[in-house]
Amino acid sequence: MQEVRTRFAPSPTGYLHLGGLRTALYTYLIAKKHDGKFILRIEDTDQEREVPGAIEQIYKSLHQAGLIYDEGPDIGGPYGPYIQSERKDTYLPYALQLVESGDAYPCFCTIEELDARREKATSEGKGWKYDKHCLNIPKEEAKRRMESGESYCIRQNIPTEGMASFEDLLFGYVEAPCDTLDDGVLIKADGLPTYNFANVIDDHLMHISHVTRGTEYLSSAPKYNLLYKALGWEPPKYLHLPVVMKDATRKLSKRHGDPSFEDLLDMGYLKEAIINFIALLGWSPGDDREFFTLDELIQAFHIEGLNKSPAIFNMDKLTWFNSEYIRKMPFEDYLEMASPWFDKALHGTDIDYTYLAKLMQGRTEVFNRIPEMIAFLKEMPEYDISLYNHKRMKSTPETALNALEFALPIVENISPWEEQEIHDSLINSIKEAGLKNGLVLWPLRIALSGLESTPGGAVEIAYLLGKDETIRRVKNAIEKLKN
Ligand code: GLU
Repeated sequence: MQEVRTRFAPSPTGYLHLGGLRTALYTYLIAKKHDGKFILRIEDTDQEREVPGAIEQIYKSLHQAGLIYDEGPDIGGPYGPYIQSERKDTYLPYALQLVESGDAYPCFCTIEELDARREKATSEGKGWKYDKHCLNIPKEEAKRRMESGESYCIRQNIPTEGMASFEDLLFGYVEAPCDTLDDGVLIKADGLPTYNFANVIDDHLMHISHVTRGTEYLSSAPKYNLLYKALGWEPPKYLHLPVVMKDATRKLSKRHGDPSFEDLLDMGYLKEAIINFIALLGWSPGDDREFFTLDELIQAFHIEGLNKSPAIFNMDKLTWFNSEYIRKMPFEDYLEMASPWFDKALHGTDIDYTYLAKLMQGRTEVFNRIPEMIAFLKEMPEYDISLYNHKRMKSTPETALNALEFALPIVENISPWEEQEIHDSLINSIKEAGLKNGLVLWPLRIALSGLESTPGGAVEIAYLLGKDETIRRVKNAIEKLKN
């Protein structure tokens, strides 16, 4: 069997968006599933769209995602270079071969001429595609003009009748009437190939067995197949992947503020959770299993599980995955990842991070939500005394005042200031006084946090705040309730 070789072929136009990451992931999985090679190729022939730094960002993002390529621009490989701008001289000979065989032709039309003819066609209500004007130039004359230094491009000569078709692994047999296809440019006037040409040449020269890319190329693929045929080459297997949508009508797009892979990492989503979630955007394992490591995905992935319809990116679902992954992280890893987020809220305090991390791990959905959840530990927020009302605890601002006056001397006498000691002193005293736990602990937690919901209860928060701060907050709460 032919070796499976897949490629991810991004254009360096910015951060890796999530649709791109998903394409990269599926491409990687297909290669690895068949013990094949996963190749990175940078498609930078449209240099006007290139964003500085984007290539390095692609290397970095793929590494962060764990999608390690076997061949690529920065690591080399047997079919390099893997950046199209460094392969400049590769394409023209093939284009000339096509000119020779009549499957392509040089075109000398200027932009102005093309614009004028396009405008005329449009004003007559006709659609515009290149009118094969230069196909009629006698071969000898064309050759002479090319050699004289006149500016020209090379266009594909699409047959005027018949069908162009190809076979897609997901969409099946796809065909288009040739007379609807444009004689697209293969080599531009600057000598660089267009994507439409370079992808064919490179996929062939790099021995790519499976071409995976977005469905936006589905309609061009029949043209690519004509090129393979004209060059006498075996076409690869094609797999076009449906787009990732933000909702029923809008595509996910960085330009419209949707997060990139990098953004999600910066926000505190775990790469494992993102990969797991992305894998299931448009692919189903066929059972109800939801959690997959990258290695498990390699085992489980199969093309038959792909869905033809566009996938909708559901941020809440991603967040759910993330919280599940955070919950299952080894505690030491959580502590390490959470500490910089703790710092953002607690810098300058001596809060015990290990203890805090134990409280927070099961409550962290995304790391960037940590600071606002714990800011109260550094600074007591403003709050309304109506927070002391709690039906089930039978707490009201009036009972709260009594409860806090009851709790204050107990707190003042606790030593050493340790969680167990704080817990036992409060619970035992409450019991001795014949009170209900909630009646005292609810107001105490409000007095210490000013919040209805907190990581941990009154005892944990008191421990974290330390004895002095706990006493100070209880006294302030008593004053507030008296006024
Ligand atoms: N360079 C193309 C893009 O970024 C990729 C198309 C392909 O994978 O063939 O959209």
